[in-house]
Amino acid sequence: MAICVHDTLSRTVKPLAPREPGTPYRMYCCGPTVYGPAHIGNFRTFILQDVLRRALQMDGVEVLHVRNITDVDDKTIRRSQEEGVSLGEFTQKWTRKFHADCAALNLLPPHIEPSAVEHIPLQVDMIKNLMERGHAYRTPDGSVYFKVRSFPEYGKLSHLEPESLRTQDTNSAGDLHTADEYGREHAHDFALWKARKPEDGRNFWPSPWGEGRPGWHIECSAMSTHYLGGTFDLHGGGVDLCFPHHENEIAQAECSTGERGLAAHWFHCAHLMVDGVKMSKSLGNLYTLDDLRAKGASPAALRYALVAGHYRSQLNFTLKGLSDATSAIAKIQKAARKLLARAGLEPADFAPPEVLETVTTWGIFQKAWDCLRNDLNIPSMLGQLFAALPRATMPGRTLEEVRADLSGLGNLLYVLGIKLFEESAKNAKDPDAADGVNGGANPVIVAGNDGVAAAAQTDVPEAIRELAERRKKAKEARDYATADALRAQLEGLGWKLTDSKAGHILTPL
Ligand code: AMP
Ligand code: ZN
Repeated sequence: MAICVHDTLSRTVKPLAPREPGTPYRMYCCGPTVYGPAHIGNFRTFILQDVLRRALQMDGVEVLHVRNITDVDDKTIRRSQEEGVSLGEFTQKWTRKFHADCAALNLLPPHIEPSAVEHIPLQVDMIKNLMERGHAYRTPDGSVYFKVRSFPEYGKLSHLEPESLRTQDTNSAGDLHTADEYGREHAHDFALWKARKPEDGRNFWPSPWGEGRPGWHIECSAMSTHYLGGTFDLHGGGVDLCFPHHENEIAQAECSTGERGLAAHWFHCAHLMVDGVKMSKSLGNLYTLDDLRAKGASPAALRYALVAGHYRSQLNFTLKGLSDATSAIAKIQKAARKLLARAGLEPADFAPPEVLETVTTWGIFQKAWDCLRNDLNIPSMLGQLFAALPRATMPGRTLEEVRADLSGLGNLLYVLGIKLFEESAKNAKDPDAADGVNGGANPVIVAGNDGVAAAAQTDVPEAIRELAERRKKAKEARDYATADALRAQLEGLGWKLTDSKAGHILTPL
């Protein structure tokens, strides 16, 4: 049976499988708004998405993970101006910090990480298309709005009746926006394009409706459909994004492509609370990774504490929970050392398993894995894991059994993203070090259908491009033997090549 998780659209727990068999599982996750350090609530959502991706890989499913960077919105513009630096300089600084925190928390970098500001023409095209199809209108000030009543299915994700919909009165920063509503026909309509205002400073772009900048929601519709196609497998975010952001993403994407079913699965994570209340700056209970490191916590313990609750329930974060997480890791580590000694192995041998190979032996941890596959039930999985540990370390188990148990334990920890014998903090990068789109950790090259390296985001050696180009031609000519040999050659040279709707992706291995 495949891994199952809850889908907000159908309100059922459904199996996850690629829509198109034989293609990677295509998932799009809304990324951070880079105006400051991400808080641990944001990381709860990103880590749960990472666990889902790792679980799919462990289940033998190849995943193509896209997560955007929101680097143009009210908050980023306002804060960059307050600091007196350009929007680009400001957002790059916080993007680097985000990448450093992700690395410390052992998050796999997404395969593609598109920035909103670098995809404005794509967003303009989508808005044009929506206007042509009668789903959008221009107001006298040069803004463009989506006409919600032109899409009768609006509300299908959040299960809200049109009459009970709240107005589209907040922006991505959660603030009320009132200044830019001149000419809006209906309170439900939302901005696709915001006409240039003096307070935007130098942050405006050309469009057929005049200078301005995109509304917040359009970036995700434009970039998800560009990289993953009009219908893909899974879309994820925190529950706060369900309405209006994801509802608007569906409206924009489905009305512009004409296709229905933007994502087959909508994966929403409940919020992290702190000491029983919502995290907020004014209450002084908003934590970042650095805040907790300053208190002596390790990123691995934080990761454990953030995944230990079920994704559909709010999780109450406490410093006591964090110290319990540290103890839990130490307990697992102690048992793993015993098992390794019995098998005549070193901690260094406890490496992450070779995922994507057909896995795998679960040994005494089979039940724990089954819990995880059933609606990503990590609390039950951890219960099973701790119930199995004393049995695994009991004397009398054969070498074969011990090896199977070690493999099962290693696999579970890989899925949770907990490195037992490696200080994950050492992976953290200096936030101010110059690096690429993916924090330098795992740069990705995206290419359009017109060529292998048409939209290269980072350096790819010329020889690698050529090989990828030759492989593309071989595939087009249906010479699969040559195509496979060239792909193998690329792998031998340290580059993984994945096909996607948007083109080919080269990832350094
Ligand atoms: P943002 O940077 O505000 O765009 O949010 C990035 C991600 O974090 C989104 O998926 C949000 O839904 C999610 N998020 C925001 N606050 C929390 C929270 N307290 N707990 C869990 N996820 C959150
Ligand atoms: Zn989004």
